[in-house]
Amino acid sequence: MSGARTRADCSRCDAVCCRLTVVLAAEDRIPEHLTARTAAGLHVMARDAEGWCVAVDAATGGCSIYGSRPDVCRRFRMDGPYCRDIRADYRDRRARGIPLAVYT
Ligand code: SF4
Repeated sequence: MSGARTRADCSRCDAVCCRLTVVLAAEDRIPEHLTARTAAGLHVMARDAEGWCVAVDAATGGCSIYGSRPDVCRRFRMDGPYCRDIRADYRDRRARGIPLAVYT
Protein backbone atom coordinates (compact mmCIF):
# COMPACT_ATOMS: atom_id res chain seq x y z
CA MET A 1 0.00 0.00 0.00
CA SER A 2 1.31 3.44 -0.84
CA GLY A 3 1.30 6.16 1.77
CA ALA A 4 0.28 8.82 -0.71
CA ARG A 5 -2.45 11.06 0.58
CA THR A 6 -5.26 12.45 -1.51
CA ARG A 7 -4.69 16.08 -2.36
CA ALA A 8 -7.35 18.38 -0.90
CA ASP A 9 -9.40 19.97 -3.63
CA CYS A 10 -12.31 22.45 -3.46
CA SER A 11 -14.26 20.39 -5.98
CA ARG A 12 -14.38 17.48 -3.51
CA CYS A 13 -15.02 19.48 -0.33
CA ASP A 14 -18.07 20.68 1.60
CA ALA A 15 -16.64 24.23 1.76
CA VAL A 16 -15.23 23.50 5.19
CA CYS A 17 -13.07 26.64 5.11
CA CYS A 18 -16.29 28.62 4.80
CA ARG A 19 -17.07 27.65 8.40
CA LEU A 20 -14.08 29.57 9.71
CA THR A 21 -14.43 33.07 11.10
CA VAL A 22 -13.85 35.47 8.20
CA VAL A 23 -12.57 38.75 9.56
CA LEU A 24 -13.15 41.54 7.07
CA ALA A 25 -10.49 44.04 6.09
CA ALA A 26 -11.26 47.74 5.67
CA GLU A 27 -10.92 47.41 1.89
CA ASP A 28 -13.39 44.51 1.59
CA ARG A 29 -16.65 45.56 -0.03
CA ILE A 30 -19.25 43.13 1.32
CA PRO A 31 -22.98 43.92 1.53
CA GLU A 32 -23.81 44.73 5.15
CA HIS A 33 -26.60 42.13 5.35
CA LEU A 34 -23.94 39.42 4.88
CA THR A 35 -21.78 40.67 7.73
CA ALA A 36 -21.92 40.76 11.52
CA ARG A 37 -20.00 42.09 14.50
CA THR A 38 -18.48 39.75 17.04
CA ALA A 39 -18.77 40.41 20.77
CA ALA A 40 -15.23 41.77 20.53
CA GLY A 41 -16.32 44.20 17.81
CA LEU A 42 -14.69 42.50 14.82
CA HIS A 43 -16.42 42.96 11.47
CA VAL A 44 -16.88 39.45 10.07
CA MET A 45 -18.87 37.49 7.53
CA ALA A 46 -22.15 36.44 9.15
CA ARG A 47 -22.69 32.71 9.67
CA ASP A 48 -25.77 30.55 9.76
CA ALA A 49 -26.88 28.35 12.66
CA GLU A 50 -24.52 25.55 11.58
CA GLY A 51 -21.57 27.86 11.28
CA TRP A 52 -21.38 28.24 7.51
CA CYS A 53 -20.74 31.66 6.03
CA VAL A 54 -24.04 33.10 4.81
CA ALA A 55 -22.49 33.74 1.40
CA VAL A 56 -22.24 30.00 0.71
CA ASP A 57 -24.72 29.14 -2.04
CA ALA A 58 -26.71 26.23 -0.57
CA ALA A 59 -27.50 24.84 -3.99
CA THR A 60 -23.96 24.69 -5.32
CA GLY A 61 -21.76 24.88 -2.22
CA GLY A 62 -19.87 27.69 -3.92
CA CYS A 63 -19.34 31.27 -2.87
CA SER A 64 -22.19 33.51 -4.00
CA ILE A 65 -19.92 36.56 -3.88
CA TYR A 66 -16.84 34.89 -5.33
CA GLY A 67 -15.81 37.83 -7.49
CA SER A 68 -15.81 40.20 -4.53
CA ARG A 69 -15.03 37.74 -1.73
CA PRO A 70 -13.03 39.00 1.24
CA ASP A 71 -9.28 39.28 1.03
CA VAL A 72 -8.75 36.57 3.65
CA CYS A 73 -10.79 34.15 1.52
CA ARG A 74 -8.65 34.98 -1.51
CA ARG A 75 -5.52 34.18 0.46
CA PHE A 76 -6.71 30.87 1.95
CA ARG A 77 -4.53 28.19 0.38
CA MET A 78 -6.25 25.08 -0.95
CA ASP A 79 -4.43 21.97 0.37
CA GLY A 80 -2.32 24.11 2.68
CA PRO A 81 -1.74 22.93 6.26
CA TYR A 82 -4.75 24.79 7.67
CA CYS A 83 -7.02 23.49 4.90
CA ARG A 84 -5.90 19.91 5.56
CA ASP A 85 -6.31 20.26 9.34
CA ILE A 86 -9.85 21.57 9.27
CA ARG A 87 -10.88 19.00 6.66
CA ALA A 88 -9.49 16.21 8.83
CA ASP A 89 -11.37 17.50 11.88
CA TYR A 90 -14.57 17.84 9.84
CA ARG A 91 -14.30 14.29 8.43
CA ASP A 92 -13.56 12.85 11.88
CA ARG A 93 -16.53 14.57 13.48
CA ARG A 94 -18.89 13.43 10.75
CA ALA A 95 -17.62 9.85 10.86
CA ARG A 96 -18.10 9.68 14.63
CA GLY A 97 -21.41 11.55 14.68
CA ILE A 98 -19.96 14.41 16.70
CA PRO A 99 -21.76 17.73 16.16
CA LEU A 100 -19.76 20.13 14.06
CA ALA A 101 -17.84 22.68 16.02
CA VAL A 102 -18.28 26.33 15.21
CA TYR A 103 -14.73 27.38 14.46
CA THR A 104 -13.72 30.65 15.99
S1 SF4 B 1 -17.13 34.91 1.50
FE1 SF4 B 1 -17.26 33.22 0.06
S2 SF4 B 1 -15.22 32.22 0.10
FE2 SF4 B 1 -15.39 33.55 1.93
S3 SF4 B 1 -16.12 32.21 3.58
FE3 SF4 B 1 -17.93 33.18 2.64
S4 SF4 B 1 -18.63 31.71 1.06
FE4 SF4 B 1 -16.52 31.15 1.63
